[in-house]
Amino acid sequence: MKHTSKLLATSFHEHDTYPCPVCHVGKISHMPLMEAMSCDFCQQIFTVNVEQQQLKLPSRQPPLVWRWNGFGWTEAQLEGVEFGWGYAIAAVAFIILPTFVIGVVAYNFPPHPDVPLSWLPYIWTGMTFMSHLVIILWLIVEIYQIPIHAYMRAVRERLIWW
Ligand SMILES: [Zn+2]
Repeated sequence: MKHTSKLLATSFHEHDTYPCPVCHVGKISHMPLMEAMSCDFCQQIFTVNVEQQQLKLPSRQPPLVWRWNGFGWTEAQLEGVEFGWGYAIAAVAFIILPTFVIGVVAYNFPPHPDVPLSWLPYIWTGMTFMSHLVIILWLIVEIYQIPIHAYMRAVRERLIWW
């Protein structure tokens, strides 16, 4: 752990207040008598690991984890899951490869223009791209659904109060 550059970076301490990594609106502060912090806006409760400078959202499985980097929270991570380049490449390949294969077939073996449904291979190529893209987007939303839902709920509750 880096504790040297105290001039700018500050280490995470559970008795200070910090911006909420879920809603980015509220402030999280220590809950009395508990090893936990809660947000004054979205009401999420976090568990604290000061040694690892970590904040964990245990209300979902696997828990979402943020790490304090001295200035702010890192991107949310699923505990025990590293989203490296391998996943990004796999996601892109999942979208591009089937589209490419079908596109190559449609390009190299074009149906005669007079044949009914001669446009189908091209539409099919586009639909392949869209359907695979939607699957990947859905996966991303699934992973981050708690932040999105918590944020929407908090905004709704505030609107009602106002
Ligand atoms: Zn919050």
